[in-house]
Order: sequence, then C-alpha cells, then structure tokens
Amino acid sequence: MNVLNRRPLFVLIQTVVLVVVIMAPASQATGQARTSETVIQKATEQFEDSPLIITSLSQGLYVFSGDGGNVTAIVDDGSTLLIDSGLASRISELSDAIFRTTMRPVTRLVNTHWHFDHTGGNTYFGSSGVTIIAQENVKKELSSAEDVPFVGLRDGHYPPQALPGLTYQSSLTLQQGSQKLTLENYGAAHTDGDTVIYIAPANVAVVGDIFSNHFYPIIDLSSRGSIDGMIHSIDRILAQTDEQTKIVPGHGPVTTRANLKDYRDMLVQVRQRVKDLIAAGKTMDEVVAAVPTKDFDARWASGYVTPEVFTRMVFTSLAGANDSR
Ligand SMILES: [Zn+2]
Repeated sequence: MNVLNRRPLFVLIQTVVLVVVIMAPASQATGQARTSETVIQKATEQFEDSPLIITSLSQGLYVFSGDGGNVTAIVDDGSTLLIDSGLASRISELSDAIFRTTMRPVTRLVNTHWHFDHTGGNTYFGSSGVTIIAQENVKKELSSAEDVPFVGLRDGHYPPQALPGLTYQSSLTLQQGSQKLTLENYGAAHTDGDTVIYIAPANVAVVGDIFSNHFYPIIDLSSRGSIDGMIHSIDRILAQTDEQTKIVPGHGPVTTRANLKDYRDMLVQVRQRVKDLIAAGKTMDEVVAAVPTKDFDARWASGYVTPEVFTRMVFTSLAGANDSR
C-alpha cells in the first residue's frame, strides 16, 4: 500500500518544486529549471534504458550494472549477499539475473546510501525477508521525504519493509563464505549515510557514489554531503587500498585505485578554484561563468551531472560552510 502511495506524493512534490522555480526571479529560474530537469531526466532515461551488464570480478563475486547504481553480489555456499538494489522499475529483471548468475537466494542486502537508484529494490527484497544493512542515517533518510538540491530529486517515505533492520555507526564486519566484508563510514561525504565496503581476500572496494567513474559527482547537500567530506572519504579509501584493488564505483565501470586518485585530484583542484573565487567575492553565477572545471570536462563531464551543476554544488558546499547554519 505504501508503495502505491509513494508515486502520487512524488508527483505532487515535483509539481510544487516546479511552481516554486517558475515563481523565482527569471535570471535564476531559467538556469535552475533547465539544469534541474536535465540532471534527473538524463539519469532516469539512462537507468531505464541501459542494458543490464554482468561483470565477474573473481570467484563468486559479480557486479550488475546499468539499472541505476552498480549492484555487487558476493556468493557463498548457500546464499548471496548484495550491495545495493538498483532501480525499483527494473527489480524483476535484476533479481532474475542475480539468481541465474549466483543460483543462490539473496539473504542480506547492504545499502551504500539512501538514493533511489541504490535502494530501489529494497521493498522487493525486504518483503521477502532479506536483512537490509546500512549506516544508521540511511534509515532516517529513507523514512522521510528528502530532496537533493540542483538535481530535481525528491524521494523518501519508504515502506517499513524497505528500511534497514541492521544499522551501524562507524564500522561493521560481516562474513560471507570465505570473504570478510568491512563496512566503514568516514563521516558525511556524498550523503551522511555512506558506506564503503572492503572485501578481502578478494581485494575489492565498493565505494558507492563517493566515486562515479567518469562522472562529476552529485553532492547531496541536504543530506549533509560536502566537497570536503567527499575528499576526506576518498583519502581514507586510497589509504586502505593498493594498486591491485578493484574499485567498484557507484556508477560506471569497475576501475583502479589510480583512476580514483585522478578523480580525487580533480575534486581537490576544482574545490580550490571555487574557494579562491568565493574569497574574491564572486557570486555563484559568476563562479559558474568562470568554468572552474574547464580542463577536467573532457574526462569527467560525460555523465548526467553537468559542469554547471557540479560547480553549483561545490560553491554551495563551500559557501555554506562559512554560514552560521
Ligand atoms: Zn547517490
């Protein structure tokens, strides 16, 4: 019943957002409305239309990509543990593919954070008795309506069966067959409920949306995400991994630590440029016009987060830190 109730609420909230944007001053409204709609439309179209691709990382370890955020499956003798649950509208296709690939029932599901493209299958799995595990703030974010500035996303109010039944604060260890999973939260980064999962001895790190491979990231400012938190978490991940570690990003292909390091260096440089422009008294629109991402766009602007939206998020993250809020 709750599932049926969610969509009208979502539509209603979207309508309210649109009205507010139209009523805003024309100079802001034009850019805001266009970029907000572009981000969410691009993302949704991509998640709905991309083929589901299955990648084998090692014995009993698979990544399912295309239907939202990357989904990782770790198989033992009798069960499958999942990390993230994809997009709600494609859950039948995903669960069929998981069962065909692993031939074992899903018994545990870890969420890297609360966003809809990583928790869309929570209701499905939770309803069939799967234990959902997450950092404690994920339960809070999934239980209430949340919005993400600059991308036009509002979501929340998941039904009780979709909520984490097992939560932790800063660290948790799980065993799945021969693999040890270490769940870590390094404070707010992409959101305030991010989990990084290290899998050993496979030497895999599943990092969620702290890293979108080839994309500028979304920084969920309303969930206390920040550019500083993103950089801090990535520094911790770099310290915990080596050149052989397979890095599973929230979106995009499985990659290497070297690529994560390049992404970290991009974040650091864009942050510094925006910080300098703020110190020089520039407004958000002036900072956007200065294109502080310019020399990084060829490599990182291929996703649904445009350089403009990313710059606005970095600006707000840094300018907000100087406010008393
Ligand atoms: Zn996310």
